[in-house]
Amino acid sequence: MDPKVWRVKLNDGHFIPALGFGTYAPDKVPKSKAFETTKLSLDAGFRHIDCAYAYSNEREVGLAIRSKVEDGTVKREDLFCNSKLWATCLRPELVRPALEKTLKNLQLDYVDLYIIHFPVAMKPGEELFPKDEHGKVIVDTVDLCATWEAMEKCKDAGLTKSIGVSNFNRRQLEKILNKPGLKYKPVCNQVECHPYLNQSKLLDFCKSKEIVLVAYSALGSQRPKEWVEESALVLLEDPVLCAVAKKNKRTPAQIALRYQLQRGVVVLAKCDNEKQMKENMQVFQFQLSSEDMKLLDGLNRNFRYARFHIVDDHPEYPFSDEY
Ligand code: NAP
Repeated sequence: MDPKVWRVKLNDGHFIPALGFGTYAPDKVPKSKAFETTKLSLDAGFRHIDCAYAYSNEREVGLAIRSKVEDGTVKREDLFCNSKLWATCLRPELVRPALEKTLKNLQLDYVDLYIIHFPVAMKPGEELFPKDEHGKVIVDTVDLCATWEAMEKCKDAGLTKSIGVSNFNRRQLEKILNKPGLKYKPVCNQVECHPYLNQSKLLDFCKSKEIVLVAYSALGSQRPKEWVEESALVLLEDPVLCAVAKKNKRTPAQIALRYQLQRGVVVLAKCDNEKQMKENMQVFQFQLSSEDMKLLDGLNRNFRYARFHIVDDHPEYPFSDEY
């Protein structure tokens, strides 16, 4: 299957490629790496690029996109670029300027998708994680419905084709969906999702509302020291996942990605390695049986790699609810 046509329809009529390339890298990785890996990903056939202001590498990703458009590898209209509104910009008056900054960084006239990165508002300013003298993150109080209205205006202004959210729980999604005068529903909710945290209840809820679930850390995360405990389980070494891979003559990474596609989930994969990027693109070439899908479903243990504990006392901290 040509990955360019393996797309999922969004509730606003646009389409999202079912496999996306992740551009987040932990702090220790030089930002210049994003330029090389994004170019390689486009060469490998990825057409959906997942960016974020908070990754501090939009400039490098944008340069890579520009260079691949200029050398004819890809046309802008065949690309799906998404970025995210960071938590320090949730006040409604900060939303459009934040998107304009992202567009400038990416050297794009529009993004295909703009999403609220995290529902916990932080104090506005230059710092990504503003902290007080005790090292505690300084949070802010913002009505997410007001942020959403500002997102709707960005879509109306043509700065983004679609708008969505990330790391929202059911209650927060319902808050937006039930907002009086809602103009556009979120097209997606991008959340951590893999066989150890398969999000089946959130997925069912999203499907019932025509919201696409987009899976991040689908390969078990990059385990950045800042966010993930060293003792966390290594997904790609899971014996059941490895047995399913062996049976299908595929790699554990391909099985973890294919698992999501067959559940109707759009999936992101971060990768530095050219060979593995190509391997990840091959997930459209095989199918898992319903028995294999059941085995993978059985791995769920509601295990979250990144809990973002630093803001877990905020009323909008999303991971205290069951889903
Ligand atoms: P991930 O996709 O779970 O990938 C984890 C690791 O898998 C990568 O570091 C990569 O190693 C390795 N890998 C890739 N392909 C492989 C293969 N074929 N065989 C073996 N190993 C392979 O990582 P993630 O960064 O956590 O998630 C993906 C993307 O989701 C991010 O980059 C970001 O765009 C997005 N994200 C969003 C949020 C949010 O809050 N919305 C949070 C986290 C992530 P190498 O790096 O060594 O190649």
